[in-house]
Amino acid sequence: MQEIDLIVKSDFIRKYKDGYPLISKESIVSWDKVKEEGSLLNLLDEKGKFILKAYHGIQNKGYGWALSLNKDEKIDSDFFSKKIKSAVEYRKDFYSDKSTTAFRVLNGEGDGLGGLTIDYFDGYYLLTWYSLGIYEFKAEILEALKKSVEYKGIYQKKRFDSKGKYLNEKDDFICGDKADSPIIVKENEVNFAIYLDDGAMVGVFLDQRDVRKTIRDKYTKEKTVLNTFSYTGAFSVAAALGGASKTTSVDLAKRSLRKTSEQFEVNNIDVKRQDIIVEDVFNYFKYAVKKGLSFDLVVLDPPSFARSKKRTFSASKDYVNLLKEAIQITKKGGIIVASTNSANFSMMTFSDFIAKAFKELKGRYEVKERYSLPKDFRVADTFKEGDYLKVVFIKKLK
Ligand code: SAH
Repeated sequence: MQEIDLIVKSDFIRKYKDGYPLISKESIVSWDKVKEEGSLLNLLDEKGKFILKAYHGIQNKGYGWALSLNKDEKIDSDFFSKKIKSAVEYRKDFYSDKSTTAFRVLNGEGDGLGGLTIDYFDGYYLLTWYSLGIYEFKAEILEALKKSVEYKGIYQKKRFDSKGKYLNEKDDFICGDKADSPIIVKENEVNFAIYLDDGAMVGVFLDQRDVRKTIRDKYTKEKTVLNTFSYTGAFSVAAALGGASKTTSVDLAKRSLRKTSEQFEVNNIDVKRQDIIVEDVFNYFKYAVKKGLSFDLVVLDPPSFARSKKRTFSASKDYVNLLKEAIQITKKGGIIVASTNSANFSMMTFSDFIAKAFKELKGRYEVKERYSLPKDFRVADTFKEGDYLKVVFIKKLK
């Protein structure tokens, strides 16, 4: 494949030499020569000295990802095999753990391959492509994956606008055996129904594994639990299995009723004893205050950004208000699990949001524990902003 030489602006050279993997638009003197996503780029300094090899792929984050600091590296199926094999090796504890059969195998730039993730679901592999640029390497990456692992079947999701290209290549099934719909995977002995062929999301967000375990093991025995933005109710399942006296799951999406019931059922939890409410969370808060409801544990896990009929929610702007609503219906001594996957602000800012919310209500609190991404969601030392997950367990004192 043809490689294109590009000149890096001097301010950015140090960063790239030190292994920063994200190629920004503004770091390059001119993009004029680059016509297509998937092009291989050799980034050079002003004197023409090689810095790194990258590919061009447009995501909202940037214009491409670094591939190698070696000028002679060939970007072929062997190159991708090396990446995949070392990613697999890094997760060998997960592969041998019978109580957890769903985890991330390759986490983009954390495993040296920005723009692609690979997840494992009980023998099936799911590739998620985040740009047209990385998708151009599909043939080589698939060949590499097939060489590197044993698999029952391989699936894919395209998370980019293909601009009319590849419309004939449907999402979902690629090769091997087709998976049942759903398949049942395990996470710390908990069952989850996973759909590999049903839209953008498969049913469970694997990055919350450790948080779910903590909720189940330490916080929910004989407690009442409110799970907001509940999606398929994964936190509610964890709570119910932890001995919660009752769970209430609230989500706007109609599918959440059916999906949440199913997650309870596959764990032999009596659905009739749980509440599953299809409703805007902010309406539910009003209702709960009016009825004088309060809970021992409240989970807040909103999307970074959402637009509903009546309002838009943005985590960076509205999290303080969300917390204030939650604080008012949490019992004294109770716990709020505040979570966000917004990459726009840090754990420090998130802690400030919490302080502000309690201060404005003249309340007091204590932080019990914090979580960021689990081990399989590997983060590069040179790209700490790749760790988008922030979860804080907060005890309401007053
Ligand atoms: N906590 C979930 C994941 C949340 S995904 C889990 O652990 O699996 C975000 C969810 O928020 C989506 O299911 C979406 O339907 C829901 N949502 C977005 N805006 C909402 C609102 N205003 N009220 C209720 N649910 C909302």
